[in-house]
Amino acid sequence: MSVADPAGSATRSVIDTFARYVVPNYRRFPVCLVRGEGSRVWDAEGAEYLDFFPGWGCNLLGHCPAPVVRAVQDQVARLIHVPNTWYTEAQGEWARLLSERSFGGQAFFCNSGTEANEAAIKLVRLASDGARYKIITFRGGFHGRTMGSVTATAQPKYHEGLGPMLAGFQYAPHGDLEAVERLVDDQTGGILVEPILGEGGVVPAPPGFLEGLRRICDERGMLLVFDEVQSGCGRTGEWFGYQHFGVRPDVITLAKSLCAGVAGGAMLTTVELARFLRPGMHAATFGGNPLAARAGIAAIEMIENEGLLAHVDRAADRFRERLHALRDRCDAVRDVRVIGMMIGVELSIDGAPVVERCLEKQLLVNCTQGRVIRLLPAMNIAPADIDDGCERLADAILETASRA
Ligand SMILES: *Cc1c(COP(=O)(O)O)cnc(C)c1O
Repeated sequence: MSVADPAGSATRSVIDTFARYVVPNYRRFPVCLVRGEGSRVWDAEGAEYLDFFPGWGCNLLGHCPAPVVRAVQDQVARLIHVPNTWYTEAQGEWARLLSERSFGGQAFFCNSGTEANEAAIKLVRLASDGARYKIITFRGGFHGRTMGSVTATAQPKYHEGLGPMLAGFQYAPHGDLEAVERLVDDQTGGILVEPILGEGGVVPAPPGFLEGLRRICDERGMLLVFDEVQSGCGRTGEWFGYQHFGVRPDVITLAKSLCAGVAGGAMLTTVELARFLRPGMHAATFGGNPLAARAGIAAIEMIENEGLLAHVDRAADRFRERLHALRDRCDAVRDVRVIGMMIGVELSIDGAPVVERCLEKQLLVNCTQGRVIRLLPAMNIAPADIDDGCERLADAILETASRA
């Protein structure tokens, strides 16, 4: 059978079960994945794929990175979960490692990106005792699906049918400092922004923008919150995306790759602000659990032991070279944006058929904003895999463009 042909009986039976028993809130490809290793993943019919989008950005170290697997296997047999009414060595150690690689603050642990942003929203409000409840966010941003985070996400399509939304959010065009100045008033408590838009098409903050937001926050005593759920944890070649810009935030939110594929989230903030989250004000039952903590620690250690931040720079150069060459010979490629292992290939044609064509070529990629092919490859991807995948992607784009 051909790839992505759901006729295979193992896949067909799984799809039938989903149709009966799983809420149909996702669009899924007719492929059932069963095993992964590094930048490769296999389906139930035995087909092998090269994965340029492992785990939707969660598997930053590829599928089943050995040190993370070992740490989780060791921990799962000792202690799976205990509540935050007790101390565990792993949670404290994890917080220390994150603090030392960011701005020296403290961590609140949770399980996902949207939860990390909810914690940040609460912190902004608590820091002024609710007097300054308004938060400015940006069009093109994405912050999650719970009611606070989805309200923080400006695009109306995410709000359809859900109203009334949470009060207090105001939206500015991304990059527009004057619009921010116009929106700020005495009730504005903070600004929430992705230093590099992910869902929004892999777009770094324009020069001076984050600096300007920092200045506005300093002048008005507001909190600057960076959503680094997608850009954080080493993906861009720095531990955190903000470190490319030299602008210090008051809060950052993390998830996706934080635990190299195990569910985990965190909000990091300064010691001075952390005290506003008093006991009883916020919690997450599973937050900072031993499995997530061990995975998170193992991920940081693996990145350092294997020199992966430096490897990201070399891998990014290789992607840039290959994709720029494609842009130069293909009119359908409008722009190529490479920020470490966060890559956007903006097309002049619809991206969905390109993703389908890549799947036929056994290459997994994503499309966002309709026309941006998004790649979030593993930090430890091999040079040969970059060349191989870029060739398949180039063929997919050229073939699709010739038919458009
Ligand atoms: C994915 C994402 C989120 C939401 O994370 P979940 O774990 O799905 O809740 C929030 N912000 C950004 C920037 C993201 O990319």
